[in-house]
Amino acid sequence: MASNAASRRDEDEVCPVCKSSRYLNPDMRFLINPECYHKMCESCVDRIFSSGPANCPVAGCRKTLRKNRFRKQTFEDIGVEREVDIRRRVMHILNRREEEFDSKRAYDDFLEQREDIIANLVSRIDVAKTEAQLQKYAAENMQSIRANQAIEAEEASSFQARMTLEQEEARLRRQAVRQEYETERREIQAGREDFLTRLASGSSTDAAAIAREGHKVLLKKSSARRSEEERIRQKQAALRLDNKRISNLSTVEQAGAADTGLVKGLRKIKTPEPEKPYDPFMGYVPEKRDYYSLQSYYPSQYLDPIRNDARMLAGGYDLREYYSRTLLEAFAGLSCFVGEEISQRDAANTSTSTATEGASMAVEGGENTA
Ligand SMILES: [Zn+2]
Ligand SMILES: [Zn+2]
Repeated sequence: MASNAASRRDEDEVCPVCKSSRYLNPDMRFLINPECYHKMCESCVDRIFSSGPANCPVAGCRKTLRKNRFRKQTFEDIGVEREVDIRRRVMHILNRREEEFDSKRAYDDFLEQREDIIANLVSRIDVAKTEAQLQKYAAENMQSIRANQAIEAEEASSFQARMTLEQEEARLRRQAVRQEYETERREIQAGREDFLTRLASGSSTDAAAIAREGHKVLLKKSSARRSEEERIRQKQAALRLDNKRISNLSTVEQAGAADTGLVKGLRKIKTPEPEKPYDPFMGYVPEKRDYYSLQSYYPSQYLDPIRNDARMLAGGYDLREYYSRTLLEAFAGLSCFVGEEISQRDAANTSTSTATEGASMAVEGGENTA
């Protein structure tokens, strides 16, 4: 284990191309190319690729590399470096946003699909097929990809603006507190000195009057300080208003951008309204009674002996059911005005009666001729 780690560190110290080691050249820097992730030193890159694209000098690797693609390694593990590169590239293309999907479920499915694609590319499964899919998607959805990239950039910049404003606000607050403290200290000092000089120069009878006056001066000064505080508070409020305006602006822009994304957004068309629960009675509530409320007990000479009679109850007889049926029957028909319904029915009949009359006459005529 320890020897393994040691040998790997030694290997890292030596350029696999020119075999020069960091021991001899402490300033040596290693670069990688995302084409094959073979590591080599900076001077080798300069030497081999300065005159244009060339094959990777590492034995067994025939990838064509360009100098401008070489960069410093971010992660120590080359595997991690490669995965991060792949992830960045795939996320750049498959950058659909949650609000573009009908449901959370659909968005989750999309995220899972994206992870599958990344995993395939990382572990070199179906690379050609997956790459072809990605290219096809990128070509077909160029507009939405651009729109989403713009939204992302906008979000990042508005976040930056908000941070700056918050910092400015905090700075103003700190400044105000410091100023307040400073002014107060200076005023107290000045007031005290003034008071002492007046006392020293004046006669002893004036002492009370001078003290009163000094107190008044201090009061005046503190009111002036209050107005200063008020001014700072207003400044901060204005800043906050500005802040709010910026955040509003960004939401409006986001909505607009999302709309343009929707034009090409194949998956999300419109979020359906949540369905109301099915009502088989069309608003009629089965147990609702408008004219009475069912009690659990009504005194009755006839029913009272039955109430606790085992012979009756054993058969399943329930007095509550009896009450419910009796009351329903007693109140059934209230608010149903039969007279009105008949006159309405007659009115409806007269309007159609001409047709029926004609039909009956025709029938009669037919009978006569027969
Ligand atoms: Zn080298
Ligand atoms: Zn290579």
